[in-house]
Amino acid sequence: MQLLKPGQLALAYFLTISTSGVYAGESEDKLIDKIVAAYGGDKLLSAKSLNFKEQGKNFLRGQSTSPEKTDILGYSASLNIDYENKRKSFRQASGSNALIFLKEQFFDGEKGYQIDHIDKSVSIDASVKYDNFANFFSYKVDTILVQMINQARDSAALKEQVLYRGKVHHKISFKSKGYPELTLFIDPTSGLISQMTRAYNQTGKLRVYEFSNYKQQDAVYYASNTYYTSQGLPVSMTTSRSLVINNQSDAVYQTPKGYGASKDEIDSAKMNVKKLADGVYHAGQGWGFSIFVDMGEYFVASGSYHQLTQRFTAMKAYSGIDKPLKYQVVTHHHQDHQRGLKEAAKLGVKFITVQQHVAKIREQTQQALGDDRFLLVDGLGSFFENRLQVIDVETSHSQHNLISYFRETKIAFSADHFYSRQKSGAPKGDPDLKRIRDKLAAHHLDVDHFAAAHSPRLLSADDLQQAILQMQPVSCPLGWDICSQ
Ligand SMILES: [Zn+2]
Repeated sequence: MQLLKPGQLALAYFLTISTSGVYAGESEDKLIDKIVAAYGGDKLLSAKSLNFKEQGKNFLRGQSTSPEKTDILGYSASLNIDYENKRKSFRQASGSNALIFLKEQFFDGEKGYQIDHIDKSVSIDASVKYDNFANFFSYKVDTILVQMINQARDSAALKEQVLYRGKVHHKISFKSKGYPELTLFIDPTSGLISQMTRAYNQTGKLRVYEFSNYKQQDAVYYASNTYYTSQGLPVSMTTSRSLVINNQSDAVYQTPKGYGASKDEIDSAKMNVKKLADGVYHAGQGWGFSIFVDMGEYFVASGSYHQLTQRFTAMKAYSGIDKPLKYQVVTHHHQDHQRGLKEAAKLGVKFITVQQHVAKIREQTQQALGDDRFLLVDGLGSFFENRLQVIDVETSHSQHNLISYFRETKIAFSADHFYSRQKSGAPKGDPDLKRIRDKLAAHHLDVDHFAAAHSPRLLSADDLQQAILQMQPVSCPLGWDICSQ
């Protein structure tokens, strides 16, 4: 027998400790068994299908109508899971009758589909899969989390117990296919999930889902209230939820009658620069585009999605014009449209905006910008000897939307109200677009073409008229049972 040297002894000791981890695995299994039993055991595991319906409120901060306010938007949603045929379907109606937003997608066992109820069209979407289908909804439903941890037992790891709502809770983490690591807080008495957390990003901040008001249907349990916060701020609140087991129709996995294939989309994956007119360039990729207009000594731009610098650099390379960017028109205060403002500030621009958005711009740029860095628009602003006119339109989207009109070329640039990502055809209009058209007319701004922040496509004045002609009130689609709730 070989003698153990001190180092080897330490190694042997360490091995004993880590072997005891196997026993820890057993208690993870025991805890998962307890959770599954609390939620109905075999009744849950043998369910052929589940249908969760819920009503709730979403809190809009980055996308509210004013930077000073958090808006609230009611919604009604339904998720169907068909375990036998590996199908899932999701429907959601949010807003009110005057302004209703519809979302529908399903996975029919083979392919994922997106339904556009405004266009009355259907598109196949490879990103819609069975495993992580409507994950934003699944996170909110404790019963679905139970099924997930039960299937991902091998990945489960017990954490130190924590005091939660005055009671010491078990804490267990796991990782399901297509999901980030999730951590559950388990009530030791009932075995029910009190809370789920997942990472917000790498900085240690959390997204937190708190469950309460548990109910049961055919002995399967679920929380009827979920409160969801991200980095401590409210995102959504489920005010009621119901469950139906083993009863669903095929209709939720079929495309609506009379809906056609959606039109071809423009491929905008790569950076693309276009010359729209003399000295006028449109550059961008994905969902972020900017207009750059040569004013002689410098450029003026609008559209401030992130990667503004990349677009500016690509435009200068394409045009061969090397002049500084001196002015940036800020379309509105929404978070996604402000991610490029820090870059703009770094480039040394002056911001053209409304008084109401100055504080938000300062916050976004993380710089102590002096008042001289802002040119303010009050209704209508004229700049550079009238070569640029900026009009402010209030819509349901934002109290202030700035549209840039370049007089010499009759080109306008806007953000969220008038664009198409399809290769042809006019988009469908809405009352906000009509407001914009009327405002342009009231100021006698004769626009020939419209460029936008969300598409490489240039739309025409005819497209605008067509869009408004095609305008139709959005109503609840036939056969939806969630709208009346
Ligand atoms: Zn917006």
